[in-house]
Amino acid sequence: MYAYPRKRSLKKRFLIILLLFLMIPIFFILFIRLEGEKPSVSINLTSSYLGTSQNLEIKITDKKSGVKKVRVTLGGQGKEVELLDEYIDAGGVILGGGRHEVDFERIIEPKKLGLTEGEAVLRVVTRDLSWRGWFHGNKTTIEKKMIIDFKPPVVTVLTRAHNVNQGGSGLVIYELSEDCPVSGVQVGDHFFPGYSGLVDKDTVMAAFFALDHNQDTGVRIFIKAVDPAGNTTRAGFTKYLKKKRFKKDKIQISDRFLQSKMPEFDVPDDEQAANPLLAKFITVNNRIRKENTARIKEMTSRTEPAILWKGTFLRLANSKRMAGFADHRTYLYQGKKIDEQTHLGIDLAAYSRDKVTAANHGKVVFTDSLGIYGQTVIIDHGFGLFSMYSHLSRIDVQPDQIVAKNESIGLTGNTGMAGGDHLHFGMLVHDTFINPVEWWDASWIKNNITSKIKDIQSMMP
Ligand SMILES: [Zn+2]
Repeated sequence: MYAYPRKRSLKKRFLIILLLFLMIPIFFILFIRLEGEKPSVSINLTSSYLGTSQNLEIKITDKKSGVKKVRVTLGGQGKEVELLDEYIDAGGVILGGGRHEVDFERIIEPKKLGLTEGEAVLRVVTRDLSWRGWFHGNKTTIEKKMIIDFKPPVVTVLTRAHNVNQGGSGLVIYELSEDCPVSGVQVGDHFFPGYSGLVDKDTVMAAFFALDHNQDTGVRIFIKAVDPAGNTTRAGFTKYLKKKRFKKDKIQISDRFLQSKMPEFDVPDDEQAANPLLAKFITVNNRIRKENTARIKEMTSRTEPAILWKGTFLRLANSKRMAGFADHRTYLYQGKKIDEQTHLGIDLAAYSRDKVTAANHGKVVFTDSLGIYGQTVIIDHGFGLFSMYSHLSRIDVQPDQIVAKNESIGLTGNTGMAGGDHLHFGMLVHDTFINPVEWWDASWIKNNITSKIKDIQSMMP
């Protein structure tokens, strides 16, 4: 009576264990080989517009079974072409794929593929190694609408005369046939972007540009426009480039100047040099100058998308001009030439610690000590036009501050590489230093800038 149920329970236990063993492959199949997580696809394209060629990057991720196959097609206007059809090696029958992340890179050239202009669809179909769908795997399909466009943009120049001096500025206004992410004036290796906003029409662009003081009057100048598909147009325009003679100047470097100025600069002394202070001066005048220029150009690479200035630019009141724009300077020490540089601003002097005001309306973008320039303020006047005030003894403004024309920004001084109290006034169009004299001249501004803007605005209200 006692032993019977004990025997039955042993048999029962054995059956339960057997059942559990049988359950393992079932669970394995249900939860691992029949997993339902779909592969994910990420597509990287620079634009949804396809021109001559564009790079396509695809990343497929499948955390569980792994990626099995990928097919990419591009179709439109009744034709479909295959860009990619790959079968990924399975890692093992039991556990599935060995590759959980697969990257592809292809260059799409629609014209070479025989596709025509118009709407198109980029389709990515991928499957994983799951046994779902009768062993076909989980499927992900991604479609991206594209536009195939081979037509370069049309540029219509709206301004007529463009007279530009070496070291001077110019303005060209043009209309684009379509929105272009990049357009502007190319002057040799300098590029000056155009901005919309002069008139209500978004395709009317204005580009301030400059001829660098050391660029030849034979330099290639044209409007460059690149549409979203990458199609590029280069359009010429009527221009007259005028050569300018720049002054040659000699600067005597005295021991007194070296002793008073060099300690200001954080450059290690060259103990090996016969004259360590003179060696330091040459380092500052070359390496530090280059670093300072790079910093200025970084500040002038971003600008307000509006013309903030109005009327002529102001010159330091009642001041005398001490040095001109693009003066070629030869530096002499004890009668011997030690260095050469170009002076890319105008030196003005009146009284010491004289009040310095903003030359025109704008936004302060820089207030800091800047090597050879000493305490410096840079003001953005919009559309790439900047003014710069150096050797200040005091700065009264802060970055991002909006300043009005003639508003006080600081006091003159002799910080940086300045022999005496004066204001170094510089102006730039984007990365190019320009002659401020033009911007101080009411009739130059009227003839070359404001009358052009008025003409276009009256043409297109
Ligand atoms: Zn100067």
